[in-house]
Amino acid sequence: MIPYGRQDITQADIDAVVEVLKSDFLTQGPMVPRFEQSVAEHVGAGHALAVNSATSALHIACLALGLGPGDWLWTSPVTFVASANCGLYCGAQVDFVDIDPSTYNLCPKALAAKLEVAEREGRLPKVVVPVHLCGQPCDMQAIHELALRYGFKVIEDASHAIGGKYRGEFIGNCRYSDITVFSFHPVKIVTTAEGGMALTNDDQLASQMALLRSHGITRDPSLMTHESDGPWYYQQIELGLNYRMTELQAALGVSQMTRLNSYVERRHVLARRYNEKLAHLPLVTPWQHPDSYSGLHLYVVRLELDKVSVSHRQVFESLREQGIGVNLHYIPVHTQPYYARMGFEAGDFPQAESYYRDAISLPMFQSMTLEQQDKVVEAVERALMP
Ligand SMILES: *Cc1c(COP(=O)(O)O)cnc(C)c1O
Repeated sequence: MIPYGRQDITQADIDAVVEVLKSDFLTQGPMVPRFEQSVAEHVGAGHALAVNSATSALHIACLALGLGPGDWLWTSPVTFVASANCGLYCGAQVDFVDIDPSTYNLCPKALAAKLEVAEREGRLPKVVVPVHLCGQPCDMQAIHELALRYGFKVIEDASHAIGGKYRGEFIGNCRYSDITVFSFHPVKIVTTAEGGMALTNDDQLASQMALLRSHGITRDPSLMTHESDGPWYYQQIELGLNYRMTELQAALGVSQMTRLNSYVERRHVLARRYNEKLAHLPLVTPWQHPDSYSGLHLYVVRLELDKVSVSHRQVFESLREQGIGVNLHYIPVHTQPYYARMGFEAGDFPQAESYYRDAISLPMFQSMTLEQQDKVVEAVERALMP
């Protein structure tokens, strides 16, 4: 089976992890700060906080922004459930903004229209989470302008987008957001097995997230309520969690980061090749906004079902039978039973639901060979024209 995504692990990665295993620190040592520094420097962010997953990063990001009961978090329905669940963890309510039919990202026009109504009804969101789907950045300038006008905070869910650029600058520099989150799950662009990171330029948010990822405990005398009792002393000043990343994971991350640029370049080579080789088929290849350089975590095509005699499901099943590990990113979150129980219904977000009816993620990973890619293209041809 050719998977839709796969990690790339070199001997240098393995050596880096083994080195940590032989060292004094398996956790809370020097590698996590080194990894944080390497990502922060690469993307141009002031602070980076490594944690054990992007889900954890989203959670502490929401907490640091003060999201709580009575507040609203808005995100895209076409995302992994974690982008929405982080709001619920904080006791807030979640709502969605439909996608733009050309980028599949949260639509800024739909956001503007929904904000106007929400303002009249007195239920403006406290946090909006744009998701850079497939690695293609959202229209962050438009979202930022709305954030200033309506007073909400912005967390970029850039789980798909490390190494990508928006208007010539790396995603993660938080120019148009309060916090940006990366995921290092093995299917993503850079991996630490499990792992995530929250980036920000705000000193206060950074120190609050640092507390929250480790029990709310500090050893910094300037944050304590009174003078230290002695060298053993620490204080718990918030209710935090244990969301720490291990040294093994951070060592893997540092090693992987040295190949980030070549990873994304390789993904662009593969995407250009897919675009050419699929051009004659009844499907829509990913449209790229001219302002953006996608991280290209995913390569999603949309079937033109009115032009073929097979169904979405038949194409999907045929590809799987032919050994192509296609997937579907994502089932619209509002249609998940847990969310449906809150009152969301089919029809609430028509663009997201239309996307779900014809989208397929084809294999896209840095170590995919051109021969493997040709096999995928042949399989797609066969699936569409049986
Ligand atoms: C993978 C992913 C997450 C969650 O990442 P984890 O590191 O697995 O917690 C969140 N949002 C999006 C869009 C993702 O793709």
